[in-house]
Amino acid sequence: MTSAIERIILGISLLSAYIGTVAVTNGQSGYITPMSIPMELSGNFMEPRSDHFHSGLDLRTQGQEGIPVRSVADGWVSRIKISPYGYGKAVYIDHADGHTTVYGHLQQLTGKVGEACLDQHYRQKDFSIDWTLEKGALPLKQGEVFALSGNTGGSGGPHLHFEVRRTGDQVALDPESHGIKLSDRVPPEIHGVRLYPLTDSSKVAPYPEKAVGYAAQGSTGKYTLKSTASAYGTVGIAVNTFDRYDSGSAKCGVRMIEVIVDSVPHFSTKLDHVDFNHNRYCNAHVDYALFKSRKMEYHRCYRQPNNKLRIYGKEAPQGRIALAPGQERQVLVIATDANGNKSELRFTLKGATADEAAKWPSAEPQGSLFRYDAVSRIEEDGVRFNLPAHALYDDAYITYARKPAVGRALSPIHVIGDPLTPLHTTGDLSIAVETPKPAKATIVRLDADGTVAGAVGGKHADGWITAPVKMLGSTR
Ligand SMILES: [Zn+2]
Repeated sequence: MTSAIERIILGISLLSAYIGTVAVTNGQSGYITPMSIPMELSGNFMEPRSDHFHSGLDLRTQGQEGIPVRSVADGWVSRIKISPYGYGKAVYIDHADGHTTVYGHLQQLTGKVGEACLDQHYRQKDFSIDWTLEKGALPLKQGEVFALSGNTGGSGGPHLHFEVRRTGDQVALDPESHGIKLSDRVPPEIHGVRLYPLTDSSKVAPYPEKAVGYAAQGSTGKYTLKSTASAYGTVGIAVNTFDRYDSGSAKCGVRMIEVIVDSVPHFSTKLDHVDFNHNRYCNAHVDYALFKSRKMEYHRCYRQPNNKLRIYGKEAPQGRIALAPGQERQVLVIATDANGNKSELRFTLKGATADEAAKWPSAEPQGSLFRYDAVSRIEEDGVRFNLPAHALYDDAYITYARKPAVGRALSPIHVIGDPLTPLHTTGDLSIAVETPKPAKATIVRLDADGTVAGAVGGKHADGWITAPVKMLGSTR
C-alpha cells in the first residue's frame, strides 16, 4: 500500500518532469508566427534557387501587401537594412536565445521602429541604409508589430521572407525546426534519377527515349524507376525530388536525402543550414544545367570536386557506386522533408560489360579541357580569357567560337563556353579594341540571337579592354 507521503513525492516528481519537458520545448520553439494570418508557404528553407539555397521561409500574405508583421519573440532590433535589391526593407531582431530573426521585403516599418528608421534616413540623406543598432536601443516584445509586409527588393510578388539565424556566425537555420509549425503530411515527390560517370573510363547508358534521366513511377512515398538503369564503371547519381505541404501548391525543398546501396549507406545530405559564405556552391549541389534550363531539381548524391558545402555525411563511398560488368546493385534512395515525411525510391543499377558500353553513343568532347583546380586560358586573335583555379566546380570542356561584328560593335563576337556550365568566381575577359575613342568602348553580353543583354563594363589598357565575367556563353 502506498503511503500518503510516497504519493506526494511521486506527484511532485511527475510534475517536475512535466515542467522540465515544457521548459525544453519553450527553449527551442517559443517563437510565435511572424504574422497572425494562417501560415502558408510559397517557398521553404534550402530549396535550390538561382546561384543559392533559399535561406528562409517565404510566407504568403494573401496576395496583398500591408499585413502586420510582428516579432516572434522578445528581443531587440539589431539591424535595419533598406536597399532596392535583395531583401528590400528588412529588419533583423536579436533574441536572448542566441538567434536572430530576419523579416524581408517589408512595405514599411511602423511604430517606434518606423520612427527610428526615419531619423536614420534624415541623418544619412539616403534611401539605402544598413544600420547596426546597439542591444537595448530598440527593444521589442513578443508579438509587437513593427512593420507591414510588402514586395520590396528582389521579390516577385507580395510575401514575407522570414529567416532564423545563429546570431554568432549568421548561419541561417530552418525556421521549421525553430518554432514555426506548418501543416505537412505530404511526403516528398521523387521524379527521376540521373547517372554521371565519375572516372575517365566510366560510361552511362543513354536514357530511354532521349529523356534527361530515368523517370520514376509510384506515389505516396514508394517509387521505382520505369526502366532499368545501367552504366559501366564507377558512377554517381542525382535524384529529382521536391516536397509539398498540405496547403498551397508550391514546390518546396526536401530536408534530407540518403543513398543506400546493397544495404550499405553510400551518401547522405542534410539540407539544414545555410552558410552565406558557401551558398553559391548550390550550383555544384544541383545539376545546374537542368536546373537552369528546365527548372528540374536534381540533387547530386556525390560531391563535385570543388564543392565546399558542409551538408554531406561521412559515408566512406561518398556516393561513388562501382559497377562490375554484369553486376546488379540494389539502390535505395530515401528523401525526407522538414516534417519527417519520407519517400523511398528503389531500383536496380546494372553494370554493363565493356562490349555493351562500346555500343552506347557518346559525343566527342568539344573545346579545351579546363581542370577545376588549375588556371585555364583561352588566347585567340583579339581575345583572351583567363579563368582562375576553383572557378569551376568540376573539370569541363570549354569551347570558343567567333562570329562577325554586328551593328556598332568594335570587335567580333566572341563566344566562350556555355551558360549552362556554372562558374563559382569570375574569369577575366580581355578584348582587343582598335578605335580612335577606345575610352568609350565597353564589353557587353549578348543573348543567343545577338541582341545586347547587358553591359559588363571594362578597364582599358594597351589597346585591350578587360572585365570580370561570372557567366560563360551568351545569355539564354
Ligand atoms: Zn525568400
